[in-house]
Amino acid sequence: MGRSCREIHEWIEEEIEQPIEEWEDRQEERCREEPCNWWMLCLNKLVCWLVWVTVKVIRWVTVTVGKWVVRVVCTVVNVILDVIGFIVGLILSIPIIGGIIRTVLNWLVEIFWRIVGVLDLLGSLVGIRPRKKFYFGVVIPVIGGTPLTTEAALQPQIDAVIDIYDRTCNIDARFTGFCQTEISPPGGSIVVNCDVGGFFEDWWLKGSWFEFVSRICKFESNWRNVIGYGGELIGFAVNNVAPDGGGSSTIGCSFAGTTNWVAIESGVDPATLAHEFGHAFLLGHNNGATNLMAASVTGLPPASLTLTNWQISVIRTSRHVTYL
Ligand SMILES: [Zn+2]
Repeated sequence: MGRSCREIHEWIEEEIEQPIEEWEDRQEERCREEPCNWWMLCLNKLVCWLVWVTVKVIRWVTVTVGKWVVRVVCTVVNVILDVIGFIVGLILSIPIIGGIIRTVLNWLVEIFWRIVGVLDLLGSLVGIRPRKKFYFGVVIPVIGGTPLTTEAALQPQIDAVIDIYDRTCNIDARFTGFCQTEISPPGGSIVVNCDVGGFFEDWWLKGSWFEFVSRICKFESNWRNVIGYGGELIGFAVNNVAPDGGGSSTIGCSFAGTTNWVAIESGVDPATLAHEFGHAFLLGHNNGATNLMAASVTGLPPASLTLTNWQISVIRTSRHVTYL
């Protein structure tokens, strides 16, 4: 959550400090050019400079110093909250009991923020869609010293997420970066069974691994993931997503609101991560030929994928997608 402190800091700089500084520069120029009226004993020029100095001093004391005070206080509070969030995450990483609490907690915050977002949902359905934002990151497990995949191989997935959600939903999808983790998955490889069995496996060691790695990799997201609001979604590159066979192969998995992560196999279809995030936003599958949520790979470039009005509105009112 420390990133919101940076964003507030940047906002103050861009929206308040810079405009005042620009005004100061213009005023300085005006004062320089102002003719000295002898019948006013040059007081007009003096007043002009006084205004300039006063604005400069007040701006420095309130805005320039203020933005750093805000930044420091904000950061300290956030670090404390993230440490608390991290400790909560450790508890949630305990097999079985932590897993069950995690499932219940994630669905409770999901329901809570869906209720809070009802008006936003209605607004979105009739086309009122101010810019929202959503944070996401990607984890690449390093197993036996070898990363499962490369950042370059996953970059098209990231580009597709940013493009699709920007173009269809007016959402600013912000990528928080890759995280390579040396923490070895249980059994030395990570296979996600994308079915009911996989749902219950999430309560055992595998789920603990996902939770623990998420908390370590995305420390700044810990507090937000506890309260749900603006919690980061994480894409995990995994060895395999099952079930496979019968002429079809599963390449990605999401357990909807149950987890704050989705799993993808690397390099199969560039829209896999965007599709799985769609499930994490509570979307089901859709039959549309160009729809992002089509059950099987469409083979279409991400730039031509679409979403329906209803899908867009469901995505926009997910707890992961926020104004602040
Ligand atoms: Zn799907």
